[in-house]
Amino acid sequence: MPYDDSPPPTRRARPLSVAAALAAVCLTAAGCGGGQEPGEAGAASPRPGGDAATSTAPTGEQPEPTASASPSAKPLPKGPLTGRTVVIDPGHNPGNRDHTREINRQVDIGTGRKECDTTGTATNDGYAEARFTLDVSHRLRALLEAEGARVRLTHDADRPFGPCIDERARIGNEAKADAVVSVHADGSAVGNRGFHVILPAGVKGGGADTSKIVKSSADLGARIAGHFARTTGSAPSNYIGGNTGLNTRDDLGGLNLSTVPKVFVECGNMRDPKDAALLTSASWRQKAAQGLADGITSYLKG
Ligand SMILES: [Zn+2]
Repeated sequence: MPYDDSPPPTRRARPLSVAAALAAVCLTAAGCGGGQEPGEAGAASPRPGGDAATSTAPTGEQPEPTASASPSAKPLPKGPLTGRTVVIDPGHNPGNRDHTREINRQVDIGTGRKECDTTGTATNDGYAEARFTLDVSHRLRALLEAEGARVRLTHDADRPFGPCIDERARIGNEAKADAVVSVHADGSAVGNRGFHVILPAGVKGGGADTSKIVKSSADLGARIAGHFARTTGSAPSNYIGGNTGLNTRDDLGGLNLSTVPKVFVECGNMRDPKDAALLTSASWRQKAAQGLADGITSYLKG
């Protein structure tokens, strides 16, 4: 099966086609269809003062569960994901904006060099993407641990900045993760709406070789796209991905350097008022986390 040293192929019959995954779980979701812009979020669409954000989310209906980055010390319940390891990568870090020299340092991404990390974007009201990604990551971890999975975060705002994009990939590789999901939200023009999932392209060069993870990551990504649309009711983005909600890229260090199945998820456009209203809602973030968890579970259960 696709990627090195992960559990044997018994895991999966045959990758679901994108359309099939979307169609299968989108039947009930109004508004399936639309597309979006990529990037190690915020990087591709720089915004002046993009992250001059306040810290907490405007609406705190459902509190986000918090703990530390490392796997939970408490015994995990037995469940369908017992024995599986999932790494969650909360995009950016709230401290990045105070460490611009450190995050601008160039690191090797196999096919070239890129900044260590970026500040991320924010809503017009100042809700920072870096806070959004931690919130959704905490909710996602709680849902996966409840299924018995061993979950690790690449950081939990428990470090002044980063980790750098190469270290984020390394954490997933060294954990021998069965799946890795990098959580982001985009910063694009008003009117650009919806979510998209970024898949690794086939890349070989320097320290990068994605040949073993392209197929499995495409399967993981398609299932996440389908379930995300179903649980949130959000449409796949209307400005990238041709209404599939999927986009393949070869210039993201976090994907290029991964040796385990991995995707990025851009949950919506923080700069569009309608999307921002969703992203700043704790109950919508809970649905987003549920969609990510269902997609990951569906992938791991095959
Ligand atoms: Zn981002």
